[in-house]
Amino acid sequence: MGSVTIKEARKSYGALEVLHGVSVDITNGEFVVLVGPSGCGKSTLLRMIAGLEAISGGEIAIDGKVVNSLAPKERDIAMVFQSYALYPHMTVEANMGFSLRLAGAPKQEISARVAEAARILGLDAYLTRYPRHLSGGQRQRVAMGRAMVRKPKVFLFDEPLSNLDAKLRVQMRSEIKQNHQRLKTTTVYVTHDQIEAMTMADRIVVMNGGFIEQIGSPLELYDRPANLFVAAFIGSPSMNILGGRLENGSFVLADGTSVTAPRIASFGNRMVHLGIRPEHLRLDPNGFKAEIITVEPTGSETLVVLRLGGHEVTGVFRERIEKLPGETILVGIDAERAHLFDPETGKRLEV
Ligand code: ADP
Ligand code: MG
Repeated sequence: MGSVTIKEARKSYGALEVLHGVSVDITNGEFVVLVGPSGCGKSTLLRMIAGLEAISGGEIAIDGKVVNSLAPKERDIAMVFQSYALYPHMTVEANMGFSLRLAGAPKQEISARVAEAARILGLDAYLTRYPRHLSGGQRQRVAMGRAMVRKPKVFLFDEPLSNLDAKLRVQMRSEIKQNHQRLKTTTVYVTHDQIEAMTMADRIVVMNGGFIEQIGSPLELYDRPANLFVAAFIGSPSMNILGGRLENGSFVLADGTSVTAPRIASFGNRMVHLGIRPEHLRLDPNGFKAEIITVEPTGSETLVVLRLGGHEVTGVFRERIEKLPGETILVGIDAERAHLFDPETGKRLEV
């Protein structure tokens, strides 16, 4: 089995600390995604779990056993990289069996395990091919197969889909998820793409600048972001954040525009940042006058950037909107669904 316990893990390169004490408890069988902007420390943390980077402080345990000083091959993990790192001069079969051959496994067992992984990944027909004769998606599958044959306690993925085009990326993310449902191997998956995180993860760890901002299930993060960073990072298009004040049950913007909602009254009178998701704006004949900046029809819905109360906000509507930039529409804000944040600390306000 494979739990991964990370306690106050730190990483410094010389005098520069890039991970400032992060703690995550990953239970056996879980699919956990580390997500955050480029440079926030995702790969560093993953490589510390793998044993490819030394741990400067804190503790990492796999299955309850501290691995800080264990070599990568003693940790019973398998890592899949963005670059696939396949051996070009070896066939698919040889690539997939490589680590088992290196470990001196019996020939029969190697072929059996390679055949099983190839079957699961739909690679049976490609076993004698060389990587250069495979598509990007097939190479990605071989890289996964090479990790699978080892039956590791933990799979580690570092942005494995970044090199694929958009359509194949969607297909491969579904394949990886299906494989996880089948194999139930503990997985730690790194991506900068919040959609990938939302669609694949049991739990998401949102990182920023070497810290963890929040850990939770995709919808927990979406519905109750702990702070402004998570609020803006999770969700596409991003949550609209409007600065203003609460006054006797109303949220009032700088230009005097105000929205009233019973829930808002319970927060008292104070300065806040109000967060509203694009889908919580609606067309409303009794709503606010908003100037259209751009209209982006996707077919199933229409994404509209608007100027509202001195702010640029994005709305997503089910309706088709036949309007031009500069024209106005009337929009309502579903203030009961609004998120409130402290402007000083950025933290979510709760009553
Ligand atoms: P991410 O994967 O989230 O994009 P990384 O974990 O690769 O981020 O990097 C985190 C931070 O550590 C970055 O600021 C990066 O510049 C720095 N860093 C990574 N590797 C090294 C290294 N070998 N030496 C010095 N700084 C590094
Ligand atoms: Mg990285």
